[in-house]
Amino acid sequence: MNGYFDWNATAPLHPAAREAWLEVSARFWYNPSGLYREGAEARERLEECRERAAELLGCEPGEIVFTSGATEADNAVLHWAAGHGAAPVVVSAIEHPAVSEPAAAWLGGRLRSWPCRADGRAELGWLADFLEWERPALVSLMAANNETGALQPWREAAELCARHGVRFHCDAAQWCGRLPSEGLGSCDFVTVSGHKFGGPKGVGLLKLPAGLNGFRSFRGGQQEERRRAGTENLPGVAAMLAAWEAVEVLASDAAAAPAEARDAFEARLTSAVPDMEILPRGVPRLWNTSLLLVPRGANVKWVARLSRSGFQVSTGSACSRGGGASEVLAAMGIPAERAGAALRISSGWSTVASDWEALAARLTALADEIG
Ligand code: PLP
Repeated sequence: MNGYFDWNATAPLHPAAREAWLEVSARFWYNPSGLYREGAEARERLEECRERAAELLGCEPGEIVFTSGATEADNAVLHWAAGHGAAPVVVSAIEHPAVSEPAAAWLGGRLRSWPCRADGRAELGWLADFLEWERPALVSLMAANNETGALQPWREAAELCARHGVRFHCDAAQWCGRLPSEGLGSCDFVTVSGHKFGGPKGVGLLKLPAGLNGFRSFRGGQQEERRRAGTENLPGVAAMLAAWEAVEVLASDAAAAPAEARDAFEARLTSAVPDMEILPRGVPRLWNTSLLLVPRGANVKWVARLSRSGFQVSTGSACSRGGGASEVLAAMGIPAERAGAALRISSGWSTVASDWEALAARLTALADEIG
C-alpha cells in the first residue's frame, strides 16, 4: 500500500528526474558561463531545457527564467510590481503565502484583495467591475488552489486583463504536472514549481514578458539575461524538465478522463460517514485533491492517527504549518472552528485505486474511534 496523500505539499522524485539529474550532474557540471568548450556545452544544455519549458507552456524561450522554486518566482513578480508606479495591485484572497505575504509587505495601500466565492473560486465579476474603473499595475490569480483544489478562472482573468492592457500573473504551482500546461504561456507572468510534480526540490521557473523593463530578481551576475543572478542549477533544471515531460502525458489524460479514483473515494467515504463534509462543491477541482471537514475532533488528531497507520495527509497547506487558521477557508466564509476540521488529501502519479480504498476504510474506522 502507498499511503502518501500529501502530493500538494510535495511529490517523490520521478524516476525520469533522477536519471536526468545523475546524467547532467556527471557530464555537464561545468559553469554554463564558462568560456571554454565544456562551459559552452553546459550552456547549450541549459538553453535546450529553456526551449522545452517554453514548448510546454506555449511561450518563447526568452520568456523563461529558471528560479529556486515558486516562492522565489512569486516574490520576484510582486517585487517588480511594488517597484513600478503607484497603481493598485490586485491579489486574489486565496493566494498562497508566497504571493500574499510579499504583497502585504511591499504594497501597503496599493494592495486590493480580490474576493472569492463560497465555492472557493475567485469572483470573476468583481474583477470585471474593477477593471472598468481602475488600471492596476498587476493582477495575480493562481491556477488551482493548493488547499481546496478549486480550479480558478485564470484564462478568463488573463483575457480580461489583456483587453484592459493590464499585466496578469498566474501562480501555476499546483496546475503544472496535473493538468495540461499549454495555454499558460498566454499569461504575462507564470510561476512553476518543480517539486510539485516530481522534479527536485528547490527548482522552478518564472515565465515573464520578454524585455520587461527593469526586471531584476536577484542582482549580481549576468545570468538569465541579468534577470536572475546566480549560477544556474543545470542538473536541477534538467531533472525538472524530465519529470514535467513525463507527467504532462498523464496531465492530458487527466483532463480528458478526470478524477475517477478520487470521486469513488469521496462517494464511499460520505456513504459510510454521512457527517463527513467535502469542500468545495459544484466547482471544477484538481483531480487529485479532496478537502474533508472531519465530523469530530481536531484535524491534527486525525493527521496523527492516520500517520500511525501509514497514511500521510495534511491539515491544509504544508507551508502554513503552525501558522493558524487557513486564510483560504476564511476567504470562503468558513468559520475558524470549522476550518480546524480540515483534512487535505492529495494524490499523484504513483497512487492507485486500492490506495484510495484503503484510506477510505481507515477514515471510516477513525470516525468511530474519535468520539
Ligand atoms: N504557490 C503555490 C500555489 C503552492 O502550492 C506552493 C507550495 O505549496 C508554492 C507557491 C511554493 O512553492 P515552492 O515550494 O516551489 O517555493
